[in-house]
Amino acid sequence: MARFLVTGGAGYVGSHTVLALLDRGDEVVVLDDLSKGHRAAVPAGATLVQGRCDDPRAVEAAFARGPFEAVLHFAALSLVGDSMRDPMRYIGENVAGVTAVAGAAAKAGCRKFVLSSTAALFGFPDRIPIDEEQRLEPASAYGESKLLCERALAWAEKVHGMRFAALRYFNAAGADPDGRAGEDHDPETHLIPLAIGAALGLRPPLTVFGDDYDTPDGTCIRDYVHVTDLAEAHLRALPVLEERSVRYNLGNGTGYSVKQVLDTVARVGGRPVPHGYGPRRAGDPAALVASSRRLREETGWMPRFPALEDIVRTAWAWHAAHPRGYAGR
Ligand code: UDP
Repeated sequence: MARFLVTGGAGYVGSHTVLALLDRGDEVVVLDDLSKGHRAAVPAGATLVQGRCDDPRAVEAAFARGPFEAVLHFAALSLVGDSMRDPMRYIGENVAGVTAVAGAAAKAGCRKFVLSSTAALFGFPDRIPIDEEQRLEPASAYGESKLLCERALAWAEKVHGMRFAALRYFNAAGADPDGRAGEDHDPETHLIPLAIGAALGLRPPLTVFGDDYDTPDGTCIRDYVHVTDLAEAHLRALPVLEERSVRYNLGNGTGYSVKQVLDTVARVGGRPVPHGYGPRRAGDPAALVASSRRLREETGWMPRFPALEDIVRTAWAWHAAHPRGYAGR
């Protein structure tokens, strides 16, 4: 048993990772300002310190509840579109968060750090699937902010000997298979919750952003990975940090088009997804699919829910049970 600091532990991927840590008997302190996350998403077994990662007093209050075996840093602004309206805020806040937390960790003698990074590091990739050797050329301020976070951690390693794992998520989706947590963003911009919401009549019909891409059915292809499998990847990365820092691309390795996702939602839910077609969304690459070979080979990680049906089924169950998200709990 060990104790972990999870920043952003009230958010989507963070809260599922808190569950994974508690399930295996670890102790968890969550640092979250609840600006995007939800108090109800923090499991009862975890301790919540409410505050921002770039607020030294909040970070100090969190570290006072240590010592921590490792920090898992999820807290960040994470919307690509938003980042192109306010790039300085994205870069400023995301870099300030990681540097404040990693700096405090080094001071406290905690030398393991796991960073939520992103496929957005690769911008418009040259080839699919995307492995760790591909060119890093973010096409958004969000992607750039995470690249800068990774680079900052490389300096924490050089100077303070802090090891880090940067996990570049592809499309996180689904919900806890036992129904304990789910996806609740405001505003919601992600395909699967919007499609389920439309099918359930909780949201307006979905707009498919472009059907003239150079893909088999003309809609964008993404690699959807179950949030519980993402959480598990964090636990798998921790032992590697005994030896070295790592960067892993994290996806299922299979791409699905927007149309295939809508078909799957309709099949799983037993009702159609009301939708129409609109123009492309700025900054959307035609296809993003991960090669997670390195992660699998080096950590033994294997997704438990690789099938899109299972991802959608768990998401559907959570949204059907929580039509107002965490507010309804
Ligand atoms: N998408 C769409 N309509 C929507 C939301 C998303 O067609 O209302 C498409 C989007 O263009 C992308 C895919 O669904 O190709 C996944 O988008 P999402 O925002 O879920 O994740 P992203 O790939 O941007 O991280």
